[in-house]
Amino acid sequence: MRSLREQLCEYGRRAVELGLVIGTSGNLSVREGELVAVTPSGVALDRLTPETCPVVDVEGHLVEGELQPSSETPMHLAVYQATDARAIVHTHSVFGTVVATTMTELPPVHYNALLLGGTVKVAPYATYGTPELAANVRAAMEGKRAALMANHGGVTIGATLEEAFEATRLLEWLCEVYVRGLGVGKPTVLTDEQLAAVVERSFNPPEFPRRP
Ligand SMILES: [Zn+2]
Repeated sequence: MRSLREQLCEYGRRAVELGLVIGTSGNLSVREGELVAVTPSGVALDRLTPETCPVVDVEGHLVEGELQPSSETPMHLAVYQATDARAIVHTHSVFGTVVATTMTELPPVHYNALLLGGTVKVAPYATYGTPELAANVRAAMEGKRAALMANHGGVTIGATLEEAFEATRLLEWLCEVYVRGLGVGKPTVLTDEQLAAVVERSFNPPEFPRRP
């Protein structure tokens, strides 16, 4: 788990550098087999060391570490149980939280939303750290790579921590485009047909003939 705990430190620092989290908010985890390395409770994500990152099993028992795991660990474990995720990133990023406090979903206004599964749902509000919030996020995440949590923030999954982290950056970018778009006019939402055409295109990329 050593290298996975080092990854938590690296992406924790990046999350702070990019302004995706402030203070001790936000948490990350990465899974290997039945074990999950997770960021600790009460430590800023740019102050982590591998030793400070606890390891829990998928049932939520503390396996290693002096510090308590993040209070959102139940949500992480619920998502691991319900998906093929190998890493999870949760932040209180500004535009994601704006959408999560004002809307019930983030509609696909850009085709890159497909990378997160299209429309991103906002999970109904529940107190942080509770089984209710974990269940709400798990339901909103079904068939997706991302979800928003009402009046709270965003969560993304990936096959690696890098993938989950890039999904968080993309989610924040999509939320920013939508929120800024609302300030200018009425953003056009892509139709199912337009999105299907993008998927079709991605499976059949154009081949450029070589110059003779
Ligand atoms: Zn949170």
